[in-house]
Amino acid sequence: MSEIKKAEKIAGVKGMNDLLPDDSPLWELFENTVQSVLKSYGFQQVRTPIVEPTNLFARGLGEVTDVVEKEMYSFEDSMNGDKLTLRPEGTAGVVRSAIEHNLIYDGPRRLWYTGPMFRHEKPQRGRYRQFHQVGAEALGFTGPDIDAELIMMCQRFWDDLGLDNVRLELNSIGDAEERNQHKAALIAYFEQHQDILDAEAKRRLLTNPLRILDTKNPAMQEMVNAAPKLLDYLGAESLAHFEGVQKILRHNSIPFTINTRLVRGLDYYNRTVFEWVTDDLGSQGTVCAGGRYDALFGIFGGKPTPACGFAMGIERLLELMKAKGDVHQPAMCDVYLVHQGAEAQMQAMVLSERLRDAGLDVVLHCATANGVGSFKSQMKKADGSGAAYAVIIGEDEANNNTVSVKELRAGDAENNQVNVPFDTAVDYLVDQIAGSADGDCCDDPNHHHVHH
Ligand code: ATP
Ligand code: MG
Repeated sequence: MSEIKKAEKIAGVKGMNDLLPDDSPLWELFENTVQSVLKSYGFQQVRTPIVEPTNLFARGLGEVTDVVEKEMYSFEDSMNGDKLTLRPEGTAGVVRSAIEHNLIYDGPRRLWYTGPMFRHEKPQRGRYRQFHQVGAEALGFTGPDIDAELIMMCQRFWDDLGLDNVRLELNSIGDAEERNQHKAALIAYFEQHQDILDAEAKRRLLTNPLRILDTKNPAMQEMVNAAPKLLDYLGAESLAHFEGVQKILRHNSIPFTINTRLVRGLDYYNRTVFEWVTDDLGSQGTVCAGGRYDALFGIFGGKPTPACGFAMGIERLLELMKAKGDVHQPAMCDVYLVHQGAEAQMQAMVLSERLRDAGLDVVLHCATANGVGSFKSQMKKADGSGAAYAVIIGEDEANNNTVSVKELRAGDAENNQVNVPFDTAVDYLVDQIAGSADGDCCDDPNHHHVHH
């Protein structure tokens, strides 16, 4: 033994997190809530690959965006030399897929997706290299009505998730021609203020001057605040669209503020852009962002198709939910099966399957390196599982064809254990558990209901 060296541990990739069992109930609650809201608005799910051709993002997001310039995980497939990228966002893949499969040949579509995204950023609170988004894309709709509907659906997410600390910021960045005029004015203005521009801004002046408006540098705020506003360059149609969105939001009592400096980091947006932000997450306060992207289908060689969508950052929203209070940890099972002796073990195995047939969640105690363990240690596991009942099959029970059912959450009550015939144990437990569920049923979607 002594010459065998202990193998070194391998750590996960920096900035990419494991989802551990204690957190999975919260993820499940989030996913269930969001999915049922999406369904209630007629959105259909699509699942696209995590890997796409690199040029999909380079062309779609824009060569001079932060994501494409410095955040993408790109690599060459060593088998065939293909240039590939781990998706940094979901819209490009969904639009690629919609074009490839002609998804909107017979009318518009409401689609949604969820899954991991990858960006090589500096890991910090609310900013990871693998993170998760839920996004919705409404394809083929032209009017302000769909923009407003997407925003109202977001409001419903927050309501159903119990979040009252996110607020809506809205802007319109017009169409390409309006942006070009504004861009020229913006460049002229920034050139007059060369002395205030930092190195990053000077670089962006040549590549993507609009993004200078996004700066977080305090020394530049005053200058940037006084810069020409895109809103002042909008033509009649863009203005009417923007006012249409606002009118619907007001009519439905969705509060918002217009943030004339709100531009999105990706090139494909036009007209409506919005962000949902919170003050409770430090500097990574944007939990959801979106807008209209009428040009993207054309950029990808598809039939010109108007579109609008958003993506929300799951990790940031979960952090907000956690801050709201204790997360209820649901029980691992309804019944934990404890047994002692070879014959009892065989019976426990059969009973556990019958209980599952009846719709109950069952954990059967199984052997580890130390065997099945003492009765006492098994009961400890039963207690820790959160199960409402332990079913005990000892040697006596096995010989008499009975089982003992112990109520685990009955406090100090003396008579919390009964002996029932093996063949009636399933009915007995189903009645007990269904009975208590009727009494104190709750709104928790993770709560188990017994159907029989
Ligand atoms: P940020 O301003 O935080 O860099 P972004 O403009 O790059 O965000 P989008 O591309 O619009 O973000 O993505 C939509 C949402 O996804 C963001 O609002 C945020 O909630 C989340 N998100 C983006 N990047 C990350 C990341 N690296 N880690 C965790 N969540 C992220
Ligand atoms: Mg970013």
